[in-house]
Amino acid sequence: MTSPYPEVSDVDADAIDTGPVPVVAVVGRPNVGKSTLVNRIIGRRQAVVEDTPGVTRDRVPYDAQWNGRQFTVVDTGGWEPDARDRAKAIAMQAEIAVQTADVVLFVVDAMVGSTDVDEAAVRMLRRSNKPVILVANKADNNAIEMEAVSLWTLGLGEPQVVSALHGRGSGDLLDLILAAMPEPAPPIDDDAPRGPRRVALVGRPNVGKSSLLNKLAKEERAVVDSVAGTTVDPVDSLVGIGGETWQLVDTAGLRKRVSHASGTEYYASLRTAGAIEAAEVAAVLLDASEPISEQDQRILTMVVEAGRALVIAFNKWDLVDDDRRYQLEKEIDRELKRIPWAIRVNISAKTGRAVDKLAPALRKALASWEARVPTGQLNQWLTALVQETPHPVRGGRAPRVLFATQAGTRPPRFVLFTTGLLDPGYQRFVERKLREEFGFEGSPISVTVKPRK
Ligand code: GDP
Ligand code: GDP
Repeated sequence: MTSPYPEVSDVDADAIDTGPVPVVAVVGRPNVGKSTLVNRIIGRRQAVVEDTPGVTRDRVPYDAQWNGRQFTVVDTGGWEPDARDRAKAIAMQAEIAVQTADVVLFVVDAMVGSTDVDEAAVRMLRRSNKPVILVANKADNNAIEMEAVSLWTLGLGEPQVVSALHGRGSGDLLDLILAAMPEPAPPIDDDAPRGPRRVALVGRPNVGKSSLLNKLAKEERAVVDSVAGTTVDPVDSLVGIGGETWQLVDTAGLRKRVSHASGTEYYASLRTAGAIEAAEVAAVLLDASEPISEQDQRILTMVVEAGRALVIAFNKWDLVDDDRRYQLEKEIDRELKRIPWAIRVNISAKTGRAVDKLAPALRKALASWEARVPTGQLNQWLTALVQETPHPVRGGRAPRVLFATQAGTRPPRFVLFTTGLLDPGYQRFVERKLREEFGFEGSPISVTVKPRK
């Protein structure tokens, strides 16, 4: 018999990227079986459960998957392990859950029935607009299941009877969780027939865009007109680079070699912005023989703000001598300080120097752009980081970072759930460390903070 529960191992590999991953929070008194239920949901066989109520457990969010839908489960219980006052502790959990989750599972012990503490939490949960599913756990047999009917009085609708320990009712519960989740975003390009990757070849006039395009087209002798299953805009070109077909966005102007004089800078910049918008990765050409200009900076900013992967190609490298190289290094330090993550290649469209480095650079940038860090790995890293370097204390208080999820890809977007706003400096620190740990070379990333109020 095959298990109806997802295996941990296939969660990350097979997950379909449907945009932000919904968060499911599990709330309830100590010992009602929250951890056991979380283990059941994520499909872990060996439940890591302590028998002592209120024991501190290191609780992190987990990746889960059901019917092809990916979500994150958070057991809120571990956050206030030392709270003396049970009612206060559970109110706290409920609050965190409401602030951070898309769906709340409120777990009660069907063997015990509802308690005053449960009722207090329910009042809080009902005031929120979040979907709350009432889970009557430890319904190991029909007799207890019958008893659970009394839980209707909590006013959270029909109690979902389950036995987290034995698996009873958990398939139905998972179906309900999925139904309560926000609509998934329509699948992004991932599901569409994989056409050639879209590249914008951009840069200010005279940096060598047409020369590079011609070089690429000639070197590979592989300009294709159509690729099965894709429609290519007539202004685009399909070009073979590094043994792979790429769609160079809006190259019509480059091919026809329109005179630079007629197009004002304004129109040129509109066109550049359009190309970047239409692309997945931008290859920004800079003239290595000249200082990095304001116009170059504007184009780089467009790429970063559009959230596209970025490769900077220093062209005309054949004109760069030792003096210029030294100058350029200083310019790079100064002018490209805000984008140290951009991948750089030094090429010459004229001689063909290192033009073959372009395709691997583009591929690497795209891989970073689409990277997803598994939630468990992300939080293991984060926990260690905030332990080692906690948020500075201001006026006797310091916000705590609770956990993080990756809300999306293309480019990677992260959300930090915290107990308060972070110092901008600390947020930048977390961002920098995130890059140090996971790379994302060639892609912008974003980190937003979601403080619970
Ligand atoms: P938590 O404190 O809410 O996270 O609860 P735990 O998951 O640690 O479970 C507390 C105790 O209840 C453990 O001894 C579990 O084995 C037990 N338990 C959890 N779910 C069930 C269930 O469905 N049936 C029974 N009989 N015991 C359960
Ligand atoms: P575009 O305006 O960006 O399309 O630039 P072009 O491709 O028209 O190139 C502008 C000028 O730079 C032309 O005279 C090219 O021959 C020259 N050029 C382009 N690439 C290189 C290069 O790698 N080395 C040198 N020395 N000249 C180049």
